[in-house]
Amino acid sequence: MTLPIRDAVLSSPDYPFVPIDARIKLDQNESAEDFPAPLKALVLERLAQAHWHRYTDLNAEAISAAIARHEDWSPAGVVVTTGSNVLIALLIQLAALDRRVVTVTPNFALYGLDARLLGASLTEVPLRPDFSMDVSALVEAIKGEPMSGAHGGGVVYLPQPHAPTGSIAAIADLEKLSTASSQWLMVIDEAYHQFAGTDAKALARGLPHVVLLRTFSKAWGLAGARLGYALASDDVARQLRKLAPPFAVSVMQTIAAQVALENPGYMKDRVERTIQERERVRLALKRHPSWEVFPSSANFLLIRTPDASRAHAELLSAGVLVRRQDAYAGLEGCIRVTVGSREENDAFLRAAGL
Ligand SMILES: *Cc1c(COP(=O)(O)O)cnc(C)c1O
Repeated sequence: MTLPIRDAVLSSPDYPFVPIDARIKLDQNESAEDFPAPLKALVLERLAQAHWHRYTDLNAEAISAAIARHEDWSPAGVVVTTGSNVLIALLIQLAALDRRVVTVTPNFALYGLDARLLGASLTEVPLRPDFSMDVSALVEAIKGEPMSGAHGGGVVYLPQPHAPTGSIAAIADLEKLSTASSQWLMVIDEAYHQFAGTDAKALARGLPHVVLLRTFSKAWGLAGARLGYALASDDVARQLRKLAPPFAVSVMQTIAAQVALENPGYMKDRVERTIQERERVRLALKRHPSWEVFPSSANFLLIRTPDASRAHAELLSAGVLVRRQDAYAGLEGCIRVTVGSREENDAFLRAAGL
């Protein structure tokens, strides 16, 4: 029996994630530390006072205002959703239905998955062997011919720092791409920017077609709360909000975000610890006899091993879960390990024989 469902959906693979139980979980780039206990208590206290029978803000206006203060951004240019992954699909709906999505490969899987599901024409430009962006190939791709019947333009997705390699693009390259065409929404996914100390806000302020994505899931330690946001020009944000589901951000999420934004110090402290641990683990891994570790500006490390399947299984048998990346072209043999707590990182290094 054929289901009455679009071919683009039927032919799309499932999201590439298989949950595996392990004592030490270094597979999803989560924060090693939970949301601080005193802040959790504060959230619960405020939650007990809140009205659960009322709808929340139509477009998370209260969180948007708090984010705008934290980011020094126009409140009208902030769009909050239940995780930044929601925005990836919304931005395709906004500017790439019947048009094109251009991104790099390898890359965060969701850009390509959502482009396929929504029937956009997808162009993936390979990174160079050193994981740097091929800017002229990307410029060529966005200036290329639209598919028949499609309009020119669409959405360009670039993660900065890049996932899953952890590499960083020169801001001049992002600028070159962003100024190559105003027919495209240029989306810079800054999920890991705190660990890189990079910030594309100056670029986005001057160019209304540049959109930044940020999340509470990584540095803020709130992956379970599901909160992300876009920083855009007021005009783009106003159109994007039309597509966001109304009243979607719950009272629980609203209070968690507000408490986090009132206390950004804990986030900055853990980012510092994570960067120190990342460099400690990276240096230790350099002594591995057969693995090659790449430099990273994020909270994870990409490692090339002779056999990703074997490395993954051997680490797992020692209780350490990492993520295989070897299905990506150019990442043969690669695994990705999240930077965990000092103890978790030590367990990982021991499991790796170091
Ligand atoms: C983790 C991550 C996100 C964040 O997704 P959320 O839905 O906000 O949890 C976005 N982009 C990239 C590249 C990521 O790795």
